[in-house]
Amino acid sequence: MIRAVFPGSFDPPTLGHINIISRGALLFDSLDVVIAANARKVPLLKPRQIKILLEEQIRNLKLSTVKVVVHNGLIVDYCRSMNASVLLRGVRSSSDFNYEFELSILNKQLGGGIETIFLPTEPGYLVLRSSTIKEILKYRGSISEMVPPAVEKALLKLV
Ligand code: ADP
Repeated sequence: MIRAVFPGSFDPPTLGHINIISRGALLFDSLDVVIAANARKVPLLKPRQIKILLEEQIRNLKLSTVKVVVHNGLIVDYCRSMNASVLLRGVRSSSDFNYEFELSILNKQLGGGIETIFLPTEPGYLVLRSSTIKEILKYRGSISEMVPPAVEKALLKLV
């Protein structure tokens, strides 16, 4: 039984995140999507709102082995407490990979046996970034091709 964890800030959740979740659900016996605040990013949605939005997508896609949680603290501590052995991360580019690679080494040191598995993004999601979406939203550009409709609706209420 392989339990995996997909951590991120998901602020906001994008179609790129949903793609990684759907593919991860096929690879592991269970997948916990862990919402963890990123101290380096200015928050837009509250973790509680992100959880509701992600849960709706997961329900729609009938991903019965996927659950969403909010966690404050080290992700390796969450993995340990849940007996999860894999950290799942998505990679869009070589610069993503550089960052993710260093993070995976750090998490390996912190978390003992935890392995990070990278999934390359798929062509339609290559340029989807939460930070870009925040920027487009600020100037009232269209984000309908980048996020699920329910996420778009929640974001439009903020501008
Ligand atoms: P973080 O704040 O930790 O970077 P994010 O919410 O931005 O978290 O992303 C969580 C994970 O999802 C990261 O592994 C990131 O690389 C991945 N990800 C984000 N957008 C995409 C995308 N369009 N395609 C594939 N993976 C993605």
